[in-house]
Amino acid sequence: MATFSSLTDRLSSAFKNLRSKGKLSEADIDGTIREIRRALLDADVAVDVVRAFTGRIRERALGAEVSDALNPAQQVVSIVHEELTAILGAGVDRPLNFAKNPPTIIMLAGLQGAGKTTLAGKLGYWLKDAGHTPLLVAADLQRPNAVTQLEVVGERAGVPVFAPERGVSSEAVSAGLATPGTDAGDPVQVARDSIDFARQKMYDTVIIDTAGRLGIDEELMAQARSIRDAVQPDEILFVIDAMIGQDAVTTAKAFDEGVDFTGVVLSKVDGDARGGAALSVASVTGKPILFSSTGEGLKDFEVFHPDRMSSRILD
Ligand code: GDP
Repeated sequence: MATFSSLTDRLSSAFKNLRSKGKLSEADIDGTIREIRRALLDADVAVDVVRAFTGRIRERALGAEVSDALNPAQQVVSIVHEELTAILGAGVDRPLNFAKNPPTIIMLAGLQGAGKTTLAGKLGYWLKDAGHTPLLVAADLQRPNAVTQLEVVGERAGVPVFAPERGVSSEAVSAGLATPGTDAGDPVQVARDSIDFARQKMYDTVIIDTAGRLGIDEELMAQARSIRDAVQPDEILFVIDAMIGQDAVTTAKAFDEGVDFTGVVLSKVDGDARGGAALSVASVTGKPILFSSTGEGLKDFEVFHPDRMSSRILD
């Protein structure tokens, strides 16, 4: 994975020096840990996360039982793998949470440009493929183009879009729901109407795209909170661009406090910028990463498994 390839190279060279050794001395372990620390910091992983991570590795590596199956170097790699998995998953590897009584409501939150609208299409496509009947909802009324953009995405994915513009989507109008009387400027009302519409038309999953700004914006956070409170989503997914660097942690914390999201989606994992900051997000917020987005195409999207990601990084 391009985003983490340099981290992968650095970690693998940190381990290489251990391989020639039989028993590891404290100095050997400390030397390796220093290299791991530098590799993680250079990849932009948050300082606090690196400190806790290397502390645990040191403690475990020094106290490691002698294993018949693994040589000392393998043992260190295996400890790093386990600890990296723990960081990436906040101790959790869970699927998307579906409602007992449909529709399942999924709300997307994040900065502008994070990849929310693109993700809405991917999620819709993925759910449809799995036999669900998703509906996309355009509750980003901040950007003039956002509604049209979601409509384009929905069309590409073959998933209908509930949009407020011009008195909502033609389907909604023909169903007599969300009539032109719906205030096209009120995303909370749009979200509410979309749930009624989904119930009537038997859509089993509703994916609500919300507005994002370039920086944290209290007004928009309050708006996202109002949408949340109005529709009580089963999942609130915080979408974060893996390339945003050290800002990832502050942004994630702000959205965590702002909307108390339930899961994280890492987007643009295909980029070649340092993606380490995004690796800190689960650890810092205690919320699991559920998906990763790996390109602009509809299928460039994966269910996230901390264990597999950890293996890829350490490959
Ligand atoms: P939003 O403002 O959060 O809705 O973000 P968009 O969905 O509009 O995405 C912003 C830009 O990032 C668009 O040009 C997308 O095509 C692009 N994008 C979204 N997800 C990915 C991804 O996983 N990889 C890459 N390379 N580009 C992406």
